[in-house]
Amino acid sequence: MHTQGRILSALLAGFLSLSGCSGGDPTGGSDPAPDPGWMKNPPVITPGASGRFLLRGTLLLPQGPLKGELLVEGNTLTCVAESCASATGAAGATVIETGGVIFPGMLDGHNHGLFNIFDEADWNPGRFYGSHNDWTSDTRYQQVLDAKQYLNKDVTSPVDLRCEIDKYAELKALIAGTTSFTLAPGAVELACYSSLARTIDTSRNGLGTDLLRTAISVPSTTSAAQTICNSYAAGTCNAYAVHVGEGINATARNEFATLESRAAGCLLAPQTSIVHGTALGDAEFSKMAVAGMRLIWSPKSNLFLYNDTTRIDLALKAGIKTIALAPDWSLGGSVNLLDELRVANQVSQSKWNGILSPQRLFDMVTIDAARALGVDGLLGSLEVGKRADLVLARIDPSQPYTALLTASPLDLDLVMVDGKPLYGTLELKAAAPSTPGCEELSICGATKFVCVAESSTQNKLNQTYAEIVDVLRSNLSDYDTMVSSLGVQPMTPLAPLVRCP
Ligand SMILES: [Zn+2]
Repeated sequence: MHTQGRILSALLAGFLSLSGCSGGDPTGGSDPAPDPGWMKNPPVITPGASGRFLLRGTLLLPQGPLKGELLVEGNTLTCVAESCASATGAAGATVIETGGVIFPGMLDGHNHGLFNIFDEADWNPGRFYGSHNDWTSDTRYQQVLDAKQYLNKDVTSPVDLRCEIDKYAELKALIAGTTSFTLAPGAVELACYSSLARTIDTSRNGLGTDLLRTAISVPSTTSAAQTICNSYAAGTCNAYAVHVGEGINATARNEFATLESRAAGCLLAPQTSIVHGTALGDAEFSKMAVAGMRLIWSPKSNLFLYNDTTRIDLALKAGIKTIALAPDWSLGGSVNLLDELRVANQVSQSKWNGILSPQRLFDMVTIDAARALGVDGLLGSLEVGKRADLVLARIDPSQPYTALLTASPLDLDLVMVDGKPLYGTLELKAAAPSTPGCEELSICGATKFVCVAESSTQNKLNQTYAEIVDVLRSNLSDYDTMVSSLGVQPMTPLAPLVRCP
C-alpha cells in the first residue's frame, strides 16, 4: 500500500493545523460564492476544424483573470482577448466553452523522472540528514537505486525500460497540468521521450532548440565553469539549473562559495538557477539577487530528507525575483506540481505567515518556472505567439488562484501540449487526436481520456498506457523475485500515477 511517509505526514499535519486560512486571493473578490456553472457543468465542445481551437472561459493572464477567448492555431496561441471573433482563424475552429478556468501548462523545473516509478513506500529512511551526501549510502536507498539502474539499463543490465519509465513520469506530470517536465541531469536522450509532457531538458523539447543545462553538482573545475559561462556569452545556454546547497549543514552551504570561486564567479549570473538552496542564508541570497540569479524550490523533498526547507522568506527579502517550485522526485517529493503547490502553501502559511499569495504560487509553477528554465519566450503564460500548452480546470473562476491550491487531476478537463489535447474529460474526447486513438482511464473515480500511443511503431512510441503499466509491473515483480534471495524487500507495487484527495 502506498502511503505518505510517517514523518512527513506528521510534519504536514503540523503545518495544516497551524494554517487557519489559505491566504488572500488578490484578484478573486470578497464573495467566494461559486458560480454553480463551473462546478456542475462539464465544458461544451462544438467540433470544427482540427488543429484550430477557440477556447472560452476565465483566462489566467499575466495581468490577472479575464473572461475571454483564446485561439489556438497549430501549436501557437494566435489570439488572447475578450473576444477573438475577428481573428481569421476563429471561423470554423473547434469551440470549447468552459465555466471554469484556463491557464498555461505548468513547468516542472526540477525532477529526476527516471526514479518516479518509486515513492516513499519504497524508501522512507525514518531519519533526517545534514546534506545530500549523507543519505546516498543508506542501505535501502542503495537497493532502490540498484533497481532503478537495473530497469534503466545502466551499466550492463539486460533490461531497458527507460521509455516506459519516462512516459510513466511524463504522464504523472501531464494529468496534473504539467506540460513541461524535467527528466534528469545528464540523461541520455531517447526518441521515446517528450511524447506526452515536453521533456524540457532535452533537444526533444519541441521548441526547436535546447538552451537548458542541468547538473547535480557545482562544476568541479574552473574550466568546466568557464565553458558554461562561455555558453552564456555565446547565447547557446540561457539557463543552467544546478543543485547547490541541498541540505542544512555547512557542507551544503559551502557549495555556494565553491560555485562563486569557479572562473572568477562568472556563474553568479542571471542564467544560473540554483536548485534547492536549502542551506543558504542572507549572504548567499543577497549575492544571488545582485546577480539576478534564480531559485528552484522543492519543499516536500527537503522536508522529507532534512526536516527543513529553503528560506524563501529570506530569498524574497533579499530581492530574488524568480523563484520556481518543483517536486524533485517522487521518493519523498510530491507526485505532481498540484500536490507541491499545496505543500508550498502550507509551509508559507505555517512558517512565514502566508508570505506567498496564491497568485505568487501560481506564478512559481508557470511564468517564473519558465524564466528559471530560460523558456519564458515560448512558454509559461497565455500570450499571443507562445506555444499552446494549456489547461482547462473546473475550478472556481471567482477565486482561481486559491481554487488551484485544492485542485487535483480529477478537476482538470483538458491538458493540451503544443496544441494537442492529450488528457481530459470524456466530454472533450472529440477534441483529441483520432489516430491512433486515446485510452480511457479512471482518475480518482472519474473516467478520463489520455492519449499515450502514437502511430509510429518505432522507439516504443505506439505503446498504450495499459501496456506501459503492464511492462512496469511485471518487470518490477521479476526484479523482486530475482533479488529476494538477497533479502531485498519488494519494490512492488508500482508507485501510483496519482494520489487522490
Ligand atoms: Zn534534485
